[in-house]
Amino acid sequence: MAKRASGGGGSEVGILSNGIKNTGMNRKLDVLGRIVIPAEIRKSLDLKEGGVLDISLDEDRIILTPRQDACVFCGGRSELKGYGGRMICSSCLAGLDSLRA
Ligand SMILES: [Zn+2]
Repeated sequence: MAKRASGGGGSEVGILSNGIKNTGMNRKLDVLGRIVIPAEIRKSLDLKEGGVLDISLDEDRIILTPRQDACVFCGGRSELKGYGGRMICSSCLAGLDSLRA
């Protein structure tokens, strides 16, 4: 019988029934309600100091979503437009446009 990934000590790595990955990591809130996001998660999501996380609630879960506030291609921050949850700047957009036959 497979062990459940959630509940109990909550230290097992696995995929929960809804496809959400249980990292097996946990953190205590400090006195101001802050947590430290584990370095390996920051690294895998390329989260840098000063980056913005959007906070949303899914019933009793807190969802942190890194805000894409730079061009996905060049990292530029001017004249950004959103597409598919990513941002692209006007010059990269023009570059993509030139690929069209
Ligand atoms: Zn760009």
